[in-house]
Amino acid sequence: MTEAKLNVKLLAHTPNPDLTTATAAHLCYASSSIDDLIKKVDSAYAEKLLKRLIGEGHWSVLEHASFTFGIEGVSRALTHQLVRHRIASYSQQSQRYVNAKDFSYVIPPKVKDDKELTKKFEEFMDKASELYGEFAEKVPKEDARFVLPNAAESKIIVTMNARSLYNFFERRCCVRAQWEIRILALEMRKLVQEAAPKLFENADAICERLGYCPEGKTCGRYPLKEEVLGKK
Ligand SMILES: Cc1cc2nc3c(=O)[nH]c(=O)nc-3n(C[C@H](O)[C@H](O)[C@H](O)COP(=O)(O)OP(=O)(O)OC[C@H]3O[C@@H](n4cnc5c(N)ncnc54)[C@H](O)[C@@H]3O)c2cc1C
Repeated sequence: MTEAKLNVKLLAHTPNPDLTTATAAHLCYASSSIDDLIKKVDSAYAEKLLKRLIGEGHWSVLEHASFTFGIEGVSRALTHQLVRHRIASYSQQSQRYVNAKDFSYVIPPKVKDDKELTKKFEEFMDKASELYGEFAEKVPKEDARFVLPNAAESKIIVTMNARSLYNFFERRCCVRAQWEIRILALEMRKLVQEAAPKLFENADAICERLGYCPEGKTCGRYPLKEEVLGKK
């Protein structure tokens, strides 16, 4: 039994994501041939165009760039939240087919800060592993997995287009997002910002775009929506 360690890799992406999405944007407003569009859209023009269209909400051109991530060392609690993002493709390690005896697990930092709770947590993981092993010998793995905890490690491959990633980052980079998915979102954002710096320059928590916090509680960085737009 070991503690799981987050590992996120950008496995693949659309070639030239900045230029591909900017070319799609430029095509909407130009009478040029495709060859002329390609000549016109350089890095500086892409930056200007992408900033403008994201500001205007012309989000559909962002769908022309896709990004595939390999993710491991995350909990089942995290992957359950992740797969709620429907505009994406997922392949997740199966608990029906993969034996989970001696599974790795994620320990929440606040549990780790407390020695007594950490001890109890680890004892419980050992117990769950032991019980799983006993069950897996007597019933199919798809039934034995019912005794596995939310902390059990999972691996998942995710493909999202840039529009869906923006939506994901707006929700999950928020400082009030659940800690594990926030760490993952920040890591994914770092990777896509390296691959497509112009496209993801402004990818951030939603308050950064709106200038207010749309949630009921603010972290203090921006005022609440009601304070900016007034109460209805
Ligand atoms: C702070 C926070 C708290 C949350 N709490 C809960 C909770 O308590 N319970 C819970 O169940 N979930 C909760 N969620 C999950 C949340 O409701 C969404 O399921 C999740 O964030 C995925 O967002 P999404 O639907 O925008 O993404 P996607 O599914 O990727 O969809 C992207 C966008 O496509 C459009 N879209 C997709 N499908 C449809 C559709 N069927 N009809 C119309 N438009 C569609 C929408 O514009 C949507 O924003 C929470 C999320 C956050 C960030």
